[in-house]
Amino acid sequence: MDGIFERITTAELSFGSTATERPHIVIIGAGFGGLSAAMRLGKVGADVTVIDRRNYHLFQPLLYQVATAALSPADIAAPIRGILSRQPNTNVILGTVTGIDIAGRAVLIGQRRIPYDQLVIATGARESYFGHDEWAAVTLGLKKIDDATAMRRRILVAFERAEDSDDEAERRLLLTFVIIGGGPTGVELAGALAELAKAALARDFRHIDPTTARIVLVEAGPRLLPSFPPKLSEVAARALTRLGVELRLGAKVTCCDCEGAVLGDERIESRTLIWAAGVAASPAAGWLGIASGRGGRVSVMADLSLPGHPEIFVIGDTAEVEGPDGQPLPGVAPVAKQEGAYVGRVIAARIAARIAGARPPTPFRYRNLGNLATIGRKEAVVDFGRLQLTGRIAWLVWGLAHIYFLIGFRNRMAVAVDWLWSYLTYQRGARLITGQEM
Ligand SMILES: Cc1cc2nc3c(=O)[nH]c(=O)nc-3n(C[C@H](O)[C@H](O)[C@H](O)COP(=O)(O)OP(=O)(O)OC[C@H]3O[C@@H](n4cnc5c(N)ncnc54)[C@H](O)[C@@H]3O)c2cc1C
Repeated sequence: MDGIFERITTAELSFGSTATERPHIVIIGAGFGGLSAAMRLGKVGADVTVIDRRNYHLFQPLLYQVATAALSPADIAAPIRGILSRQPNTNVILGTVTGIDIAGRAVLIGQRRIPYDQLVIATGARESYFGHDEWAAVTLGLKKIDDATAMRRRILVAFERAEDSDDEAERRLLLTFVIIGGGPTGVELAGALAELAKAALARDFRHIDPTTARIVLVEAGPRLLPSFPPKLSEVAARALTRLGVELRLGAKVTCCDCEGAVLGDERIESRTLIWAAGVAASPAAGWLGIASGRGGRVSVMADLSLPGHPEIFVIGDTAEVEGPDGQPLPGVAPVAKQEGAYVGRVIAARIAARIAGARPPTPFRYRNLGNLATIGRKEAVVDFGRLQLTGRIAWLVWGLAHIYFLIGFRNRMAVAVDWLWSYLTYQRGARLITGQEM
């Protein structure tokens, strides 16, 4: 394998003290990146341990559909043990990682130590409030299943409370929804919420008219979907306006509280503020004892390993990786998946060659397969670079791509059936108010 790897230092040449000792690969996080790495390592001569604080893999791109009652939580999640059950060399641990002992080569789950020869950190991202952490208490985020069911509860309870209220001002407050952040999550949420109010709930109440619900989408930048070409941003803006969504572009939120948000000179009274504006990486930089880069991300080398530590890889939303244009790669699922697959291949080759710190011959390269976002049940925007699609054809591409990338036959079938049913009837099958009322 000498032609394949460039050796680094003699200290990194072997995995264990004997040639028969099986290396141990630990992967933290079974999201898009971690799972993709784990699936590449199912047949290597090594033991693999996947650690996650949840027992399921979550398809985050469809969380907004759970939040707006179109899908049930189980449709967009699949148990990690089930996904990896056909990999006899792979063990799953349910636990929250609290630190990493780099010198002792062990992952820490509280007092418990999990030793590793090769480590992959794929712990994703969390919300960032641009220095206003107090907004977390008064806005609803969307990162976890619990966030989505809490948002669904808040939205459906708002309609119930408005139906019960005789006070017009109170009704207005309840039926005004402010979404902060005009990226794909904010745009998709605004479209889905508008359709929920104006179609699915339209005939279900006796004292209020749900179609009068006010949905305001706030974006600090000059246009929606900043990562898409300007033409597609305009298509998205027009589609949302047709659905009755009020757009506030170039409007920076300066205050959020329990009764509304302030954007410059304007105050919008609302009991439901939804945060879709910013994310920061998981606290991996802190575990590694290094300074973090942009958005708390960990800067990695061209082979996605940590500088000075070829045995540690950082991937997905937690890593800062430069794209061909010198800009950091976006925090999207295909980046995480491709990085996971690449790291899986590098580690598999190292194990085959028994050279623990060998560098791969080619750096990681991201293949951009396209950007997609949907606006309600009729419109979507798809950017394949030279080819850009809008309208129903784009919506179809968006739907097929999401069904294809969902893990598990049951999930794919369930989502396809739910979507077809909603498409034909305008109804939402998951209109359940569960958990504690707020
Ligand atoms: C609402 C929403 C919508 C999105 N829409 C899109 C979209 O349409 N298209 C797109 O491409 N991307 C979308 N994304 C982004 C995409 O989901 C992420 O880029 C992708 O999930 C990143 O993959 P990852 O493996 O880095 O992290 P994740 O998939 O987030 O996985 C991280 C895993 O690490 C685990 N973990 C975290 N901390 C610990 C710990 N301390 N101990 C143990 N386990 C831990 C988590 O439980 C999780 O399973 C969306 C994200 C969100 C939140």
